[in-house]
Amino acid sequence: MRIHAIQTGSVRIKTAQVEGRGRGLRRRLAIFADRNWTGWLPTYAWVIDHPEGIIVVDTGQGAHLVDSGKSLHPYIRWETAFQIDREEEIGPLLRALGIGPRDVKRVVLTHLHIDHDGGLAHFPHSEIFVAPGELQTASGWAGSLRGYQPNRWPSWFDPKPLVLAPEAFGPFAASKRLTEAGDVVAVATPGHTAHHLSIIVEYDGTTLFLAGDTSYDEALMLAGRVDGVSANDDVASATLDAIKRLTRIRPTVYLPTHDPESANRLARRQVVPCND
Ligand SMILES: [Zn+2]
Repeated sequence: MRIHAIQTGSVRIKTAQVEGRGRGLRRRLAIFADRNWTGWLPTYAWVIDHPEGIIVVDTGQGAHLVDSGKSLHPYIRWETAFQIDREEEIGPLLRALGIGPRDVKRVVLTHLHIDHDGGLAHFPHSEIFVAPGELQTASGWAGSLRGYQPNRWPSWFDPKPLVLAPEAFGPFAASKRLTEAGDVVAVATPGHTAHHLSIIVEYDGTTLFLAGDTSYDEALMLAGRVDGVSANDDVASATLDAIKRLTRIRPTVYLPTHDPESANRLARRQVVPCND
């Protein structure tokens, strides 16, 4: 098995999105009042080159997002900025690794935000898995009002439901094995979105935690700081706490989508430090 980090361009967001201010609705509205942008943050997708078939986790950004400033949605228009050109989309980057579209058996999406589903068009031959609740939240005009872009999904997009079983995996209440070997497991990490998933890969005695957007970097996870967009403070806090507890029982490499250190940590197998 090999794991690759694939950087599909980069994104800037408001600092109040990265680390929430206050609680509840006030925290979510603070993004719109914030004038401070982050630097350019990477947007990673992940490739698990597994003996049972290649699994891609998230599809990253698409070049269409560069026009986000023209979006009708106020969050996309005013609170995000993207950098990516067509050659930085996941399809061309996979081909550079020698992986063609028919080689990818399955695609699993942590959630359907626009910088995670932006590369779906590159996977017409793959089985695509999404949590049913996430698909429902993102679909139709209601999904568009929530800041998703279901109008950007390929016409053939008809994902299979990734239904988690009420089987605990470490500190996580619900999980689903994605391989016969049991070394790739989806776990429920609600918070950033209500049906957000993360993917755990057991690799060579180390646990790789493909975190999606559970936090924007490792320090914020360790500090238990909820981001600016999570709907429910307590749910998001409980997920951050569960991840931290996992890192205390297993050597874990924590790999959020937008953490500038994620690719380095993966390359070095650098586990989360246990200082307390
Ligand atoms: Zn997101």
